[in-house]
Amino acid sequence: MNSRIIIPSRIITADRENRILTSHAVEISGGIIKRIFPASDIIGNSAEYYNDLVMIPGFIQTHIHLCQTLFRGIADDLELLDWLQYRIFPYENAHNKNSLKAAARLGLYELLKSGTTTILDMGTLRHQEIIFEELIHSGIRAFAGKCMMDKNDLFPSFKSSTAGELKQTGELAAEFHNKNEKIRYGFAPRFVLSSSETLLKETAELMKDFRGSVYHTHSSENLNEGRRVEEMFGCGNIEYFERIRILEGKTVLAHCVHVNKNEIDILSKRKVSVAHCPSSNLKLGSGVAPIPEFIKHGITVSLGSDGAACNNNLGQFQEMRLASLMQKPYHGASAMDALTIFRMSNIEGAKALGIDNETGSIEEGKKADLVLVDLNRYSSPLPEGENLYSDLVFSADAGAVKNVMVGGEWLVRNGEVSGYDEKEIIVSGRSELQSLLRRVE
Ligand SMILES: [Zn+2]
Repeated sequence: MNSRIIIPSRIITADRENRILTSHAVEISGGIIKRIFPASDIIGNSAEYYNDLVMIPGFIQTHIHLCQTLFRGIADDLELLDWLQYRIFPYENAHNKNSLKAAARLGLYELLKSGTTTILDMGTLRHQEIIFEELIHSGIRAFAGKCMMDKNDLFPSFKSSTAGELKQTGELAAEFHNKNEKIRYGFAPRFVLSSSETLLKETAELMKDFRGSVYHTHSSENLNEGRRVEEMFGCGNIEYFERIRILEGKTVLAHCVHVNKNEIDILSKRKVSVAHCPSSNLKLGSGVAPIPEFIKHGITVSLGSDGAACNNNLGQFQEMRLASLMQKPYHGASAMDALTIFRMSNIEGAKALGIDNETGSIEEGKKADLVLVDLNRYSSPLPEGENLYSDLVFSADAGAVKNVMVGGEWLVRNGEVSGYDEKEIIVSGRSELQSLLRRVE
């Protein structure tokens, strides 16, 4: 069996004790972390030494739209409902297999290059199999699913029938859930305004046939969206979900910016996780999610960069930095410290997806989902001033990422992503976007 020993300068484990190990080796075999032990115990010279690099768990992003990567920079300065109506729905509606492939490739390349090893992707209405093929090609760990929409007042041609959505989703889940050890299904009705009650409820039923899958939707992102939900159902978005009983399985809700006290209790009682998307919430002018309140109530909060059309980056470093900074004016400078944020970027994401027993931290028995970062440029020059969490959350950026491993396999080495030709994916992305824009009426 393929086995290797890696020795970085430090190992930031994100385990229960938040141990940071120096002069330790990580032995990996069969994609699993077999042993973490003092480097002085190594016999022979078979180890890989990375004296200047710090090992961290791979980033886990629990809200991504790979299909939107081509739309970076052409959907700026709009609030959510206008952004969907005038940009995103027409653009997603114009995707064909080639443009979707180009979008997914660009997105996955950027995610891997910046240290993300697991994602939860929302997919799009059509050609979802292309996204699965690209996920498998990339080697990333992923939960993904067809974005389901059976109503759409904002852009009526971009939807399908309720029965059609459920049938296709069932077929895709049967084909791709556990396709290999990295790929699982994420059931994805888009949001209340594009999903009928039947669709939301039947999806929750369907999910029960696929153990280890998750339910993934948007909720309570924007005030105008919230008003429409209130007009339709006389309650908040999460109260509505609770009323129709769709929060009982493993659920990840993206955003949760505008929620009332009762809804916070519902999230806590139902063990629903929140995928916090700081850049997206700020860029679309949506607001600031009450993350410290969620954490106080024991709600799992993880991070996501959302899509390139509302961020406009897919890296986790910006999300970590913003997730901390955006709360400080409201909750004081000590709120959302670097360690809390760092854990949101890895182990809390694993908890949200129900895979914290297999990834999210560097511990014996877990999958080898690891990143080697160069923090020398960002660190305090004084050895006793070392604060690696601060370096990671407030100073570092994607340029710090050197090597990325998923399931024991190096997918990025010295900043080079295997299986991708950077120039080729950029050129084909541009040309696919031009054709796509010609297809938009
Ligand atoms: Zn989203």
